[in-house]
Amino acid sequence: MNLVNLKDASDKVSFSEAVKKGLGKHQGLYFPQSIKPFDNIDEILALPLVERSTRILQHLIGDELAPELIETIVSTAFQFPAPLAKVTDNIHCLELFHGPTLAFKDFGGRFMAQCLANISEGKPITILTATSGDTGAAVAHAFHGINNIQVVILYPKGKISQLQEKLFTTLGGNIHTVAIESDFDDCQHLVKAAFDDPDVRDGLHLNSANSINISRLLAQVCYYFEAIAQLPKEQQAKAVFSVPSGNFGNLTAGVIAKALGLLIKRFIAATNSNDTVPRYLQTGEWEPKPTVATISNAMDVSQPNNWPRIEALIEQGYIDKSAIVGEGIDEEYTQVAMRQLSALGYVSEPHAAIGYRSLSRSLQDDEVGIFLGTAHPAKFRETVENVLGQPISLPQPLADCVGKADFSVDVDNSYEALKKHLFSILT
Ligand SMILES: *Cc1c(COP(=O)(O)O)cnc(C)c1O
Repeated sequence: MNLVNLKDASDKVSFSEAVKKGLGKHQGLYFPQSIKPFDNIDEILALPLVERSTRILQHLIGDELAPELIETIVSTAFQFPAPLAKVTDNIHCLELFHGPTLAFKDFGGRFMAQCLANISEGKPITILTATSGDTGAAVAHAFHGINNIQVVILYPKGKISQLQEKLFTTLGGNIHTVAIESDFDDCQHLVKAAFDDPDVRDGLHLNSANSINISRLLAQVCYYFEAIAQLPKEQQAKAVFSVPSGNFGNLTAGVIAKALGLLIKRFIAATNSNDTVPRYLQTGEWEPKPTVATISNAMDVSQPNNWPRIEALIEQGYIDKSAIVGEGIDEEYTQVAMRQLSALGYVSEPHAAIGYRSLSRSLQDDEVGIFLGTAHPAKFRETVENVLGQPISLPQPLADCVGKADFSVDVDNSYEALKKHLFSILT
C-alpha cells in the first residue's frame, strides 16, 4: 500500500511506515495513493465479519504484509460483533459499542495495536498519549499485554467520569496511567513537550498512536460493509449513513468504503453545536468557532483533523460533494432525540442520538437509514439517566472494573516532573 502526505506529495510511505509515523512532514496526513474498487462486492458481502474484514484489509494493504499476518491481526482485533438494531421500519442503529471499552474506538484502537505489535519487529516502543476519556480507555485495552510496547496515558485528575477513569487505570502491567493535577490542555502540552525532547522521544522510542493514524481508519471501513451485509438484499442499494462526528475519522472511513465499491447512497455528517463542517458544506466557508462543551463531549471538536482526507476523497472523484450533507444538532434537540428514541423502545446516548435526529429529518421514502451507535448508553450514564429519568444498568466490562484497584500515579503539572516519572517507570 502506498500512501502520500497530503501536505507534501514527495513524502510517500508504505503502510508500515505510516502506522509507525502517524503524521508525516509538516504535520501532514497520510492518504492512500489510489483506492481500487472491489469487482466482487456481493461475494465479499456474503462472508462473515472477520473473514470479510480480512479480505477488505488485504485488498487495501496489499502484499506488503503477508495475507496470513493480516488474518491473524484481524481475528485478534475484531472479537466482538457490530449488530444492526432495528429502531423503526426504515431506520437502524449500527451498534459499534460491544467491544471492551464500549465505544467504536475499540475497532481502530485494537487493529492499530496489533499492527504495531507485528510490524515493530520486537523493538521497544512507548505509546504516550493524553486523554479526556474515550481514547485512553480504547488505547489502554488495545495494547494491554503486548510484550514490547509500554503505554503511558496522561489524564486530568478529577476531570473525567469515575467510570471512564476505572476503564483504563485498573489494567496495570504495561499500561501506566498518570493523573496530572490540571486540565486536559495541560496534559496535551506535556505530551507535546515530551515529543519535542530528544532525550525522551528517542530514548524511550515514543509513538503517539493517535486518532489520525491510518490503521484506525482502515479498520473502521470494515463495519460499513458489516452494516450493509445485515440489510435484506433488496434494501442494500438504498442505504444512507448518518455519522455522529467530531474529528471525522468515522465519516472518512465510510467514504473509503464507498470508494471500494460499497453501494452507499449518501452520508449525513452529523455534529453537535460544534458545527464547522455542516456550515462549511452549506456556505463553502471554513469558519471554525471556539469549541463549546456539550453533552456529546466526544464530538466537541471545532477543527476536525481528518477533514483534509475527506476533501481529498472528493477532489479525487471517489465521492460527489453533494453526497455528503451536514447537519448540526443543538443541546435541546439532542435531548429531544434521546427521548424520541426511548419512546421507540431504544435507549441511546447523546452521540448516537445526534445521528438519529439528523437522519430522521432528511430520510426519503425510498431510502433506508443507518445511524452509527458510537458508544454504549452506560458510558454516558449520568446524562442518559438525567435526560430519560430512568436508571441505566452497567454492562459487564464496566461493572467488572468498578471494584478493581486503581494503579494511577499523581504527577505535578510540570514537564520535569513528568520526565523524571517516565524514566523511573520505563528504564
Ligand atoms: C470519538 C467519538 C465520536 C467522534 O468520532 P470521529 O471519528 O472523531 O468523528 C463520536 N462518538 C463517540 C462516542 C466517540 O467516542
